[in-house]
Amino acid sequence: MTDTLLSYDDALARFDPAFGLEVHVELNTATKMFCGCPTTFGAEPNTQTCPTCLGLPGSMPVVNAMAIESAIRIGLALNCEIAEWCRFARKNYFYPDMPKNFQTSQYDEPIAFEGFMEVEVDGETYRVGIERAHMEEDTGKSLHVGGSTGRIHGADYSLVDYNRAGIPLIEIVTKPVVGTGAKAPEVARAYVGQLRELLLGLGVSDVRMEQGSLRCDVNLSLTPQGSDALGTRTETKNVNSLRSVERAARYEVQRHAAVLAGGGTILQETRHWHEDTGVTTSGREKSDADDYRYFPEPDLVPVAPSREWVEQLRKELPEPPHEKRARLQQEWGFSDLEMRDTAGAGALGLVEETIAAGTTPQAARKWWLGELARRANESETDLAALGVTPVDVARVQALVDDGTLNDTLARQVLDGLLDGDGTPDEIVAARHLAIVSDDGALGAAVDTAIAANPDVADKIRDGKVAAAGALIGAVMKEMRGQADANRVRELILEKLT
Ligand SMILES: [Zn+2]
Repeated sequence: MTDTLLSYDDALARFDPAFGLEVHVELNTATKMFCGCPTTFGAEPNTQTCPTCLGLPGSMPVVNAMAIESAIRIGLALNCEIAEWCRFARKNYFYPDMPKNFQTSQYDEPIAFEGFMEVEVDGETYRVGIERAHMEEDTGKSLHVGGSTGRIHGADYSLVDYNRAGIPLIEIVTKPVVGTGAKAPEVARAYVGQLRELLLGLGVSDVRMEQGSLRCDVNLSLTPQGSDALGTRTETKNVNSLRSVERAARYEVQRHAAVLAGGGTILQETRHWHEDTGVTTSGREKSDADDYRYFPEPDLVPVAPSREWVEQLRKELPEPPHEKRARLQQEWGFSDLEMRDTAGAGALGLVEETIAAGTTPQAARKWWLGELARRANESETDLAALGVTPVDVARVQALVDDGTLNDTLARQVLDGLLDGDGTPDEIVAARHLAIVSDDGALGAAVDTAIAANPDVADKIRDGKVAAAGALIGAVMKEMRGQADANRVRELILEKLT
């Protein structure tokens, strides 16, 4: 069944959107939250487990100090208060990929609370309130085998991988964000993008949305214009790209508006986002009073970070993203618009790393916001998920600079990178992409072009040097774009004048 949608403009004429975001961040600690198991991504299933993270009887958890430190640093960077004393809690629910049948989380005593982040969209600043950032552990992963969708429905059987069970997570929950009007989906996207940047700057997570180390749930509700009571919200789960955050929010605005405008009521429920079709579908009905039977975790001591430690961590925080942005803009010589576009595309870090690898700021921007942005758009993914690294881009540009590649050939190297065919140099070698500047090969192609175009050759002999362009074109065509155009011109003139 497809949802009825109201046009976005009509929806905004009648309703005011409020959104909230719950972001789960996997910390990049070497070991899990409550045991010493490694956290390496992509290991063979169930090779990174132990009695504690498998929840076997008699095992005892011990908290990972590095995870506490990362949590405090995230809280401080989000302008939060840091709890003087807080506990873990058991959140009880049954799920096959959760070996203990409870998740060790925090409930009414989060490590960080009452913060905010300033989010910039099109030159306007919006303040997003942070309600809390709390610590918890990740669940394992179910793999549904058979069936076409990868979901449990229609699967023949399911497998569980517990490698991820117990990896430290920080859940960052915003307050409802109101008053952003039609910009709501963009502000939501910008918030996640800037949060990603902030976490990257802190060095606490890989923040790879495509690998699930940053996962996002989008809450959305509508209020009739002129009212100030929040409407009933829906929670769209696991929205895993910046682009999808915006699309999912926009979709829910239009869907809610159609339901409400038709006199219906919004069901408080979770929704699933479908990346391929761009729609949400109903998940499970959810009340605020889900009974998880939270109770304080009896096997762990309370966390009571000393004020001296917290202040020390505050002092050591990296430069805040908005200050860093201003500094980079100055260093790179970008215009406001160039900077805004770069940030908006989620490419600040990528451009920064490309420059660090030796490329000029404008060349770095050109690749990421030009060719690569176009390809990310075509494959409906984020730049960071393309599989092309800043070091690759820097190398491609270096090959252009030293005359090995021209722009056409460089784009073919990008094709190779996107296909996962190795490094730029390996691709140049394997696909024979380097510009040919060897006089033997070029001279033969020039002779062929002259023989095939005697009238053009006569013009050049008569002194009409501009006609050489036609012969250069013929040579380039013959050599599939790989001829060194400057050398070809020289050879033509040598032969004909
Ligand atoms: Zn373990």
